[in-house]
Amino acid sequence: MPREAATPRHTGPSMASFTLHGIPVSRGISIGRAHLLTPAALDVKHYLVPEEQVEAEVKRLQHAIAEVHRGLQALWTELPKDAPTELGAFIDVHALILSDPMISEAPLDIIRSRHYNAEWALVTQIDELSAQFDEIEDEYLRERKHDIQQVAERVLKVLMGTALAIAPVAADGEQALPSMIVVAHDISPADMLAFRDRSFAGFVTDVGGQNSHTAIVARSLDIPAAVGMSQASRLIEQDDWVIIDGDAGVVICNPSQLVLEQYRARQAAMTKARKRLLKLKKTPAVTKDGTAITLLANIELPDDCPAALDAGANGVGLFRSEFLFMGRGATVLKVPGEDEQFEQYRKAVVAMKGRPVTIRTLDVGADKPLDTTEHTALNPALGLRAIRYCLAEPQLFLTQLRAILRASSFGKVRILIPMLAHAFEIDQTLSMIEQAKLQLRDEGVKYDEAVEVGAMIEIPAAALALPMFVKRMDFLSIGTNDLIQYTLAIDRVDYEVAHLYNPLHPAVLMLIAQTIAVGQKAGLDVAVCGEMAGDVKLTRLLLGMGLREFSMHPAQLLAVKQEILNSDLAAITSRTRRILRSFEPNEIATAVEQLQSL
Ligand code: PEP
Ligand code: MG
Repeated sequence: MPREAATPRHTGPSMASFTLHGIPVSRGISIGRAHLLTPAALDVKHYLVPEEQVEAEVKRLQHAIAEVHRGLQALWTELPKDAPTELGAFIDVHALILSDPMISEAPLDIIRSRHYNAEWALVTQIDELSAQFDEIEDEYLRERKHDIQQVAERVLKVLMGTALAIAPVAADGEQALPSMIVVAHDISPADMLAFRDRSFAGFVTDVGGQNSHTAIVARSLDIPAAVGMSQASRLIEQDDWVIIDGDAGVVICNPSQLVLEQYRARQAAMTKARKRLLKLKKTPAVTKDGTAITLLANIELPDDCPAALDAGANGVGLFRSEFLFMGRGATVLKVPGEDEQFEQYRKAVVAMKGRPVTIRTLDVGADKPLDTTEHTALNPALGLRAIRYCLAEPQLFLTQLRAILRASSFGKVRILIPMLAHAFEIDQTLSMIEQAKLQLRDEGVKYDEAVEVGAMIEIPAAALALPMFVKRMDFLSIGTNDLIQYTLAIDRVDYEVAHLYNPLHPAVLMLIAQTIAVGQKAGLDVAVCGEMAGDVKLTRLLLGMGLREFSMHPAQLLAVKQEILNSDLAAITSRTRRILRSFEPNEIATAVEQLQSL
């Protein structure tokens, strides 16, 4: 199937246009071809191969297939004479499958026509075949699907060891390939992170909530995305033309020419507006009446630091260190050791050129399981998550603390602890930090003795018992994503209750405002590092509550800065006080909207 020009063509009744409504997670408009990803496809790397390397990629797959052939032949010859006949038959079947053009040739065509890398091409073809086998009535034949999958796994194993150093092609890059929009039932946060090479122009998933970590990573990649699309992966077909309206949470499949033109015009206007924002990079974030606001970046990996600097961030307010631990395979050995972690933390600290870097200790659990942990908890968001997990695994925690402390001798580092609720958890954490310092001191390893330790305020109990934290901690950072989840008892990942996830619920506002006021009164820096901090519609509300430190994904930072530059604190503060006295949701929503025009 030759690749077509990057413009949709409508060719008949199968191209019927339809619209899906879901949850917006990442801004902007994306227009491109649908690429359906099955769970199997998510397990392999997928990237686009540049034109000039297509034939090398084809050869890589051919060699892998030949290698598996040789392996099967060797198995045959090594079979003991008394081996059961089924064993020989099984090898024969695998060899036959491997020689079938459906396996030995069709994936090569996929590499040539779609520019998929070899692993992805093979898995795409196997998925297609598996679906055909599922339709077969004869049970015996239907079960042969597993043989095909096993053969594919043999080939994939060989491929894994022979990956070429290929720079992925940006989908809408120089080669004028149509943009690719990933459509999947679900994507884990770790898988989403693997898309950071920007081969894809948008994401659509059946499930997920606005503040699930998958959504957060999509936002950090600054790629339009919509989740909670219910049946998207069933209704949208491979190569359908798709528009994602990431602001509205709408997906239009096979749009008419008129709709397409409208969206293209909006897309162009948005790109222009974003370019204009770049002018603000060096402008200090100061309100109209002269109050300086600190704008920090949320990062997942040290490689995000250049984007943070490009957006003019004053530092890193949240380094989600757990992303260093994810997507590494299933063995305990795959957890990064102290030196590996240290290198990553140091890289971020050095990249930020003297600006503070706030490293949050491992926040695994809930929708960010470690590959090594068993997923048995009935309510993982209420289970052994974040600091609870770390305190239950002291060796792992100590290793991380030592690595962070070592990085603190290369620049200003702050340690941030997630999910604290109890005084004894704070005390145990602080004593673990002391233990790590003592060890390093004994070993003569340098670290910053004055490293600050802060708490995430993201459990209602913490917000309500703030004096307990204020006494023990150097700074606070409000994790609104979890604070909303736990205050309203709504799983932030569950799209069925996503409509109940409301940052403007009076209980949520009360907890945030109270945390800011009590923390600041005690002389502590208080930041918000949840997604509320990057939502321009809420910037004035948070300023009105007294917030002076915002931490968000770099992609949102300049838009928030623009809002700050246009804000008059005196007017906003008195209006916000009124909002905080209200218990009427509609009244609150309207008043927050009106803040925009003050
Ligand atoms: C939060 O809960 O608001 C937060 C910033 O942490 P995370 O989203 O990683 O749970
Ligand atoms: Mg959190």
